[in-house]
Amino acid sequence: MNINDLLNIKVRNDPDSLLNLLVKAAVVSILVVIVISGYSFYRIFSGFVIKNAENNSVQLCKVLIDQQRDLMFVSVPGKEIGLGLHGTEMFNFDLSLRNYLAPFDIIKVKVYDAQKKIIYSTDPMLVGKVDENNQRLKNALAGKVDAKMVTKDNATDLADEELRDVDVVETYVPITTRDNRVLGSFEVYMNTTAYRDQIRLGAAVMTTLLTMVLIVVFGFSYLLVRGGTVQLKEAQSQLEIIAITDPLTGIHNRGYLMKRGGVELERVRRSLDVQKLSLGCIMLDLDHFKRVNDTKGHAAGDNVLKSVALRLRNSVRPYDVIGRYGGEEFVVLLPDTSFEQSLVVAERIAENIRSESIEAEGEQLLITASLGVSCSCEADSCLTDVIKRADEGMYKAKTEGRDRVAWVSSSRKIRPSDSTTSIF
Ligand code: GH3
Ligand code: MG
Ligand code: MG
Repeated sequence: MNINDLLNIKVRNDPDSLLNLLVKAAVVSILVVIVISGYSFYRIFSGFVIKNAENNSVQLCKVLIDQQRDLMFVSVPGKEIGLGLHGTEMFNFDLSLRNYLAPFDIIKVKVYDAQKKIIYSTDPMLVGKVDENNQRLKNALAGKVDAKMVTKDNATDLADEELRDVDVVETYVPITTRDNRVLGSFEVYMNTTAYRDQIRLGAAVMTTLLTMVLIVVFGFSYLLVRGGTVQLKEAQSQLEIIAITDPLTGIHNRGYLMKRGGVELERVRRSLDVQKLSLGCIMLDLDHFKRVNDTKGHAAGDNVLKSVALRLRNSVRPYDVIGRYGGEEFVVLLPDTSFEQSLVVAERIAENIRSESIEAEGEQLLITASLGVSCSCEADSCLTDVIKRADEGMYKAKTEGRDRVAWVSSSRKIRPSDSTTSIF
């Protein structure tokens, strides 16, 4: 896995996006739950009211049928053959019906015979009419109780009072003989408007409770996931640091150096400044380092590498890039730096390494380095071209006797800005 892959993973798998996803999922779920549960609870509560009204209606009808059997039923000896109400029968039926209905909020009662003809109605104008297309009446005549709650803009109650915006449970109950033959149907309209607020309140309370439970559950989940994402982010940033750091010296590794150098080179190329400075590059290789390992031990060699890295860091600006290029080879990239200025920096580094001995495994060692210097030019196609010239300069320094700074002639490109800089 290279650095590009690591950076891409960071963008794709940002732990915060997981948290955002959870919040979005929670909001959507809560909204869905509010809508679905609100509707369901409303249906459950109104279903309960319908059932209650239906039961009351059925009970009422049964009592009425039993009590008014003599008035309502047309019989031949031993058998009830139909329904009929006339004259005083109708008057007595109406009287006792209204008595029974007084405790209930009934707004309309009709009695149909088996031919769908209205033989009794609390609205006397309707008696004698036939309701041909009433499906629910047909259901009742087929022996099934049929009840439904509907909201009406206006209705008239038994006392002939106008009611507006009322919830009515319309119930159709079959009128059956003792031997269970259907001879007609009761139609009872019960006013349930008084329950409307209770139904809505019940649905609202249940939905609110459910929503609160969900908020608590999602709240806990959020806290848990957030704790997890904080740890994940810490681990991720640790991983990012590890991926670009040399474990021995703590400076950047070669992978980061190449990537960052590529970015800096591109920046120099894109610069519109006519006075633009180049990217300076220093390649450094310790002299006779193998001897340190061979005579003082590998641990002493490691100590020297760490000290050299520290001296490198102290020799350059904070935004210069230092990387361990190989075993005891280091590269320093100097953004916005001319060739002449890079030479000054290289000399300073060489001096800082040689001037003070390095303590390793209880011994003081005098270390020197060979440094090659280059800087970017128009012809460079990539960072490797710049490093290659610095490497050639470093080998030149080795062949000229080590402990020095050198460069190859192709590295020295004097620019207008350089001519003002005097280093020698
Ligand atoms: P020269 O002046 O020609 O560069 O001589 P040199 O001895 O430095 O030769 P060379 O550059 O080939 O030697 C590099 C040595 O660095 C070889 C290897 O054992 C040692 N080395 C590479 N990486 C490490 C490391 O991480 N720790 C230690 N202690 N030594 C290392
Ligand atoms: Mg080497
Ligand atoms: Mg060496």
